[in-house]
Amino acid sequence: MAIETVLGAAWTRKHDDPRDALIPSTPRIVYPKSLAELIEICRDENLGRLKAAGSHWALSEAAISEETFIETHDPRNQRQAMGRTLKHVVPHCLHPELLQRMSEPSFVQDHGSLVHVEAGKRVYQLYAELDQVDPLDLQPPDGVQTLGAFMLANFGTTAFEGPWGMETAGNAGGQTIVGAFSTGTHGGDFDCGPIADSVVAIHLVADGGAHYWIESSDERYWPQLTDDDRMREVYGTDEFGGDENFHIVRTRDNALFDAAVVAAGRFGVIYSVVLRALPQYARYERRRLHVWQDFKHQILDRNSALYRDAAIVPGGYVPSTQVTSPQRFLQVAVSLTPHLNFQRNLAGVTKQWKLRLQDDPPGRAERVGDLVTDFDPLIQAPRFANAGNNFSYRFDPDDPLNGEDDPDPIALACSNGSFLAGIIEAAINEIEDFVSSNGTVVGAGIAAIAALGGGGLLLLIPALLAILVILRALLEAFDADDRFGEHMENIKNSLLDPNEPDPAKRAAGLFAWQLIVYLGFQAQQSDRDYEAISYAVTDQKDYRNISCEVNVDSVEVFFDAVDQRLIAFVDALLAFEIMQEFQGRACVGYASLRFMGPTRAKIGMQRHPTTCSVEVACLKDVSGGQEMVDYAARLALNPNIGGILHWGQHNDATAADIERLFGDPTSPTNGDLGAWRQALAEVTGFGSRDRFSSDFTRRTGLEP
Ligand SMILES: Cc1cc2nc3c(=O)[nH]c(=O)nc-3n(C[C@H](O)[C@H](O)[C@H](O)COP(=O)(O)OP(=O)(O)OC[C@H]3O[C@@H](n4cnc5c(N)ncnc54)[C@H](O)[C@@H]3O)c2cc1C
Repeated sequence: MAIETVLGAAWTRKHDDPRDALIPSTPRIVYPKSLAELIEICRDENLGRLKAAGSHWALSEAAISEETFIETHDPRNQRQAMGRTLKHVVPHCLHPELLQRMSEPSFVQDHGSLVHVEAGKRVYQLYAELDQVDPLDLQPPDGVQTLGAFMLANFGTTAFEGPWGMETAGNAGGQTIVGAFSTGTHGGDFDCGPIADSVVAIHLVADGGAHYWIESSDERYWPQLTDDDRMREVYGTDEFGGDENFHIVRTRDNALFDAAVVAAGRFGVIYSVVLRALPQYARYERRRLHVWQDFKHQILDRNSALYRDAAIVPGGYVPSTQVTSPQRFLQVAVSLTPHLNFQRNLAGVTKQWKLRLQDDPPGRAERVGDLVTDFDPLIQAPRFANAGNNFSYRFDPDDPLNGEDDPDPIALACSNGSFLAGIIEAAINEIEDFVSSNGTVVGAGIAAIAALGGGGLLLLIPALLAILVILRALLEAFDADDRFGEHMENIKNSLLDPNEPDPAKRAAGLFAWQLIVYLGFQAQQSDRDYEAISYAVTDQKDYRNISCEVNVDSVEVFFDAVDQRLIAFVDALLAFEIMQEFQGRACVGYASLRFMGPTRAKIGMQRHPTTCSVEVACLKDVSGGQEMVDYAARLALNPNIGGILHWGQHNDATAADIERLFGDPTSPTNGDLGAWRQALAEVTGFGSRDRFSSDFTRRTGLEP
């Protein structure tokens, strides 16, 4: 069989600078379309070193191969993806006793449903498909019933018709499902682990071509997920190398499963995955703007109102359907730019609760939309008009159960300069009023930036006049074709010039910079209450944005949420930014803290009862951004700080760091890392089949 192969093509990650491919010429990129092709690739020694990739969203080097790149979903969407939803295992190979249990009325409510998909399905495609109601066709054209139809035909229940939702998800859905969980991708639901913890089975093809069905032993799926004989009928055939080439792994300690589920591609290429899905639900989100210094210590107290707030408060928003969970989500976005004489930082606090699904759920039309075609050969799945193809969902403030027609102004800032121009105009107006009234008219932004009283700001009035001239010139020179980062770099360079000889002008420039960022952050993290279908709340990505998300870098550091070092780390970032501003640099962005439960994955970053991740993203176009990300990564890896870096974001960790963080303190190669390495040894002939090894895995010690 001829596997689609391209020689000498460029390979790059989504967020690299579009002007220069990361790898201008690769030895080989292959585009497999089936399990049989994956087995053939892994058997063919001539292909040299191998590595699977999903959507190329990882900012680390985790998806980079030294020789052959295996694409499961062409990031340019030009070649066929491995994106099918599979029906042969779920339901037809499920264990008969499990099927019997699944027919009991309480099963769906307690444990939800199961879905089996190929690795290259993107997350937004998965949630769009899960959200459909199964027509329960007992005689489908391809002769293979869905789980819903099978349960109706055999047990007389319609309980599996859907719609379903994901238990948790990250804040964007463009990753492939396997690419996402392979690096420990997570959301902000603090009572559940990362996406990897919704995985029930993985189908892995290892170096050499042997393939493994690795199933989680889990009492929810007692006595076991699948039936061995049926599985062998499907996968033990000659097409896949015969019965001896197919291994079913199901052990009580889940040693291989817990290792392979988060492995950054080191175990081989995952062909497919079975995931748990929940009855579809909605989320209510409340966001309030606060000051970081006022509440940061509450983070260390799991009983504080940060984690245990009531959904319905007197005079507050009342969701349209029943609230069905205690608070389950927490995110804190801290502005890196200070105000109030460098002493305070704004912080948006976002909380979410689960709701019963509305009859006509807000966000469904905007985030999934109509079915365009039953089967699109490119993605090997139905295509929906708006899945992965629209602005982020935004509710209409006058009609909170409906979407706004206009896109989010923040999103617009990336495609044209109007939002930013509006912020600069607001800053100009405040400064003008202040200057022309000789300091008597003090706008809200100015009052927040400067602690008045010492008269210090009054002394800056002449210099502020000069800054006004600069700001007006910037406004006039706005070019809609420039990237957001390029706009910000211009503004920053004009305002934060360390070579400006006049100290008053330097101070006035710094003041104006802080005012602009303050007003921008305030607009971006303003108070809001809304409810929508699960994915319209979790997936906040603007899929039409092509400007804010190229040439960026991002690091995410994980801590025990109740460890003081978490707060010390964030405060150190804030101090670093102050230092940068005096040197003419700045990081346009914020530190985003999200909270999550523990993971079962041996090298997952979520190692505590409540883990908090601190994400710092930057636009590389703005000098100071990369410096901030590098500083955060360096500081995190200081053993006194003890942060763990996300496998799928900027990651400079070394083998020694990983042994310190995941190993046993008395013998760092034991502990969870030791168990992970032992499991890897099992599928690689004790390291002899090492073609999925790469610079990244060797540097980080992800080796047997
Ligand atoms: C805009 C944006 C938003 C993000 N939001 C979040 C977030 O909310 N939470 C979070 O935790 N992270 C987030 N991330 C990080 C992102 O989720 C991870 O980097 C993720 O791993 C990328 O998935 P991908 O499909 O693009 O995989 P790739 O980047 O292509 O690959 C990532 C890793 O998965 C492995 N892999 C991919 N497919 C397979 C396969 N079939 N078999 C074996 N290994 C495979 C690769 O070898 C590699 O090690 C975000 C990143 C971006 C760019």
